[in-house]
Amino acid sequence: MIKGSFPIEKFRELQTPFYAYDKELLQKTLDAINAESKKYGYHVHYAVKANANPTILQMICSANLGADCVSGGEVRAAIKAGFPSDKIVFAGVGKADWEIELALDNDIFCFNVESEPELENINDLASQKNKIARVALRINPNVDAHTHSYITTGLNENKFGFSIESLPQVVVLLKKLSNVKLVGLHFHIGSQITDMSAFQDLCIKINELQDFLREKNIRCQHINVGGGLGINYQHPNHVPIADFDSYFKVFNDYLKKEKDQIVHFELGRSVVAPCGSLITKVLYVKKGTSKQFAIVDAGMTDLIRPALYQAYHHIENVTSCGLEEKYDIVGPICESSDTFAKDYTMNAAKRGDLLALRSAGAYGEIMASRYNLRELPKSYFF
Ligand SMILES: *Cc1c(COP(=O)(O)O)cnc(C)c1O
Repeated sequence: MIKGSFPIEKFRELQTPFYAYDKELLQKTLDAINAESKKYGYHVHYAVKANANPTILQMICSANLGADCVSGGEVRAAIKAGFPSDKIVFAGVGKADWEIELALDNDIFCFNVESEPELENINDLASQKNKIARVALRINPNVDAHTHSYITTGLNENKFGFSIESLPQVVVLLKKLSNVKLVGLHFHIGSQITDMSAFQDLCIKINELQDFLREKNIRCQHINVGGGLGINYQHPNHVPIADFDSYFKVFNDYLKKEKDQIVHFELGRSVVAPCGSLITKVLYVKKGTSKQFAIVDAGMTDLIRPALYQAYHHIENVTSCGLEEKYDIVGPICESSDTFAKDYTMNAAKRGDLLALRSAGAYGEIMASRYNLRELPKSYFF
């Protein structure tokens, strides 16, 4: 499939709504990630939570990325897709015992630990299995990612990770625990970040922290700088691939690596968002006095981002070449937040037209629900 030109005849045969994934674009994105990250010897993991579609996981695994998981289910999905266990990382504030045990049984590379009681629990469970769990501490670097408050994670008052102030005490605790081994530091400041200065600030914070840890004689082989690189939701056809060049370069320019240190990235959105579109059919065009509504058969159950984060998706009427008109594009769910766009200009819509909600490959299909007893959307690859 060529970017932005859809196989309309095939679409017409399929039950809407559905996700259409562009394999060629995903492959090109993966090639760009590998080309840009290899320049600096960086390791890239994929954040499985963005999209765990088995075909997508397999393509990403074949491109030799590792997997960053946030649940036992994701660890299982990553193993099933073929990711080697030594390239699997398990993060999350609330890991249940069965999830930790599953990860220990599979000898995953590392747990990203977010609190002292979690560290103690992983130590206990590992000792019951006579294992040593490799751990990285997730540290809250107090960097403002200047993004939506729901997707900002790096500020101090936050459920995620350890504050920098708490580290001396965590270091004391680590010395007492014999079934965990500290191998890394982990950071993640937020999502959909397009201003590279936020990553620059992160690098500076990491450098300070490494100075502090060196004084305490603590060395970590791995630095995991998280994910968060944003994509261009406004212009999916003009900018189909995220700016991996600038992104990796910022870390090369500002992050002070110690000798033999390995730098990891865990990208989600920027890997998969551009390659997916949600295809939906116009059911009715309802004319009001000052507005008109395009009522479509996809809803917030298929793509929740606009309802949850006021997120913007570029929307195209792919079956109309009529003159442009303005619409509120709304779904059928009984919630007024079930609105994809307000006062949105697109080619004139009529019943039966197909719309493509672009850049929906991340946090789209994976967040679908069966609210209102709707079917989950299917997915196809073109
Ligand atoms: C969600 C998440 C990511 C991926 O974020 P993107 O913005 O999709 O790149 C990476 N690391 C952690 C810890 C996350 O929670």
